[in-house]
Amino acid sequence: MSKHFLQILVGGIILLASACTGNTESEQNITRNRPVDQLREDEKVIWVATTGMITDALNNLGKPFSKVYGMMGPGVDPHLYKPTPADLAMLEKSHFFCHNGLNLEGKFTEILSLSWGYRRTYAISAGLNINDIIMADGIEGNYDPHFWFDLNLWRKSVDSLAIVLSDLYPRLFEEIQANSLAYQAEIENTHKWALRVLGDIPKENRVLVTAHDAFQYFGRAYDIEVLALQGISTVAEFGIRDVSNLVDILVKRKIPAIFPETSISDKALKAVVEGCKRNNWEVQLAPTLYGDALGGAGTPEATLLGAFRHNVIVIYEALSGKTYKESDWVTNS
Ligand SMILES: [Zn+2]
Repeated sequence: MSKHFLQILVGGIILLASACTGNTESEQNITRNRPVDQLREDEKVIWVATTGMITDALNNLGKPFSKVYGMMGPGVDPHLYKPTPADLAMLEKSHFFCHNGLNLEGKFTEILSLSWGYRRTYAISAGLNINDIIMADGIEGNYDPHFWFDLNLWRKSVDSLAIVLSDLYPRLFEEIQANSLAYQAEIENTHKWALRVLGDIPKENRVLVTAHDAFQYFGRAYDIEVLALQGISTVAEFGIRDVSNLVDILVKRKIPAIFPETSISDKALKAVVEGCKRNNWEVQLAPTLYGDALGGAGTPEATLLGAFRHNVIVIYEALSGKTYKESDWVTNS
């Protein structure tokens, strides 16, 4: 795609966004395109994020001085997402845009980033080292973008995000750093808790079978083998052969459960359950996991750590056959 074409495309997007705000020209002058150093002391900074996970990180780092707009709500698949006019209107008003990177959101973040000027765009995955990143199917450059469920990596990227924001808002440096340390401590506690809980699943049952391949980082961090029906993106369709291959593995290894995800249809996994039944193996369709999207507003799963805890407890109960009891696993360490 030529640069000239991108400029026209971006221009079109921004024009569309301006047309959809419904603001008068004078109102727009107040909020649009204003450098951070020209903000009033009492004015909230506006940040825009793509996924629920990033929205949550910005909410944690930016309280109480930021207003965060998340593009993707509960159940939304980021691999297939196209920005709406409302997203573009918020972007026009915002001072900072954070996306995942590693091709999670396809190409649209690249196109939007080109229109930014003094406003800042940042990929939260930029806080990772190359050795942290999983290459799908071992192919160099074929990045697996789902790193948020390795909480150690998430903590590291939140740390880098806080440095970028502190640099961008020097007068908010102390608040951002204090927020970052508090959030990082919470992430680390949840990481340690998950290691204890998941470590109790018998070794032979530590196999996580999901609809799309979003849990490789989770598997690497918490020592669970991960198998999926679809690849790391949901753009490519799965085939009958994928279903029958998975059925063979489940039956042969007597794997007790498979796990649907909130952002993906569970139709294919139901076909896997039926396939196993025909081969005399009862596999349980476990409660739904949060993969690429978080839960609804007002629920504990609306935060990354809440969704993560939900996943750990569901996986623990389905693969160990035991009931999770909070008091068994909470320590003061
Ligand atoms: Zn995904």
